[in-house]
Amino acid sequence: MANTDPQSNAPHHPKPDPDLNPKHRLTLAHFYPSLMNLYGDRGNIMALRARCAARGIDLDVHAIEIGDPWNSEQTDIVFIGGGQDREQRRIHADLVGRAGPLRDYRDADGVTLAVCGGYQMFGRSYRDIDGEVMDGAGVFDIVSSHPGRRFQRCVGNVVALWEDDTLVGFENHGGRTYLNDGAQPLATVVAGFGNNGGDGTEGARTRNAFGTYLHGALLPKNPRLADRLLRLALARRYGDDALPPLDALPPPDDGAASRAHAEALHVGLGR
Ligand code: GLN
Repeated sequence: MANTDPQSNAPHHPKPDPDLNPKHRLTLAHFYPSLMNLYGDRGNIMALRARCAARGIDLDVHAIEIGDPWNSEQTDIVFIGGGQDREQRRIHADLVGRAGPLRDYRDADGVTLAVCGGYQMFGRSYRDIDGEVMDGAGVFDIVSSHPGRRFQRCVGNVVALWEDDTLVGFENHGGRTYLNDGAQPLATVVAGFGNNGGDGTEGARTRNAFGTYLHGALLPKNPRLADRLLRLALARRYGDDALPPLDALPPPDDGAASRAHAEALHVGLGR
């Protein structure tokens, strides 16, 4: 059916027709939502849900709290948000118990987004503000370390180069992250601290696992990254035939998302 909405800025794109487009469903496992949820990280899930809905895709969100079962076979996207050292200590034992399944899921090209404290905990280890070293899930070949209370936190707006685009966001972390050989940087810092304020890297990527320090939330103002995650998840679940629905219709919030990206870029570069 043609899109006849005169307000639409995409008049040539058809709306998804449930009779013509098979209904796709993605399942997101949200790890520790009651503990790891700083700076609007839940907004990432809201952005994914809105972008799915605009394409006629259902997004089921399963909360995985401490002790909850997790079915990796049914999972298309793993998400974990930021948390403070106190929360990281609380999830640590449970998370380490899931390290094998989380790494198997990564190796099966499962899509993962891990933010800030969650990013640190999805690495090999995190040394917290008191010097206590915790093992992580080892999804990323990174180590993170908090230098202690006397050191400046990495706080502020970030702009980073990602592929031929920019990522924008807000960071607030004491820990510094360093990449080992098995991890590629997700992006290159233009403004802000990124992984450690020294080597110009921001975040990490291993297969379809993405880790980043960017909060704020990340996906509402980085719509291309949001769509990349959805595209990877759909292709893995349904094959390449699933891709046309994503391309067929820019979601209705794209104007707002693009403006948010542009504004954050402006603010980030002006610091
Ligand atoms: N606790 C970590 C740090 O300060 C992560 C903080 C966060 O997730 N914002 O380094």
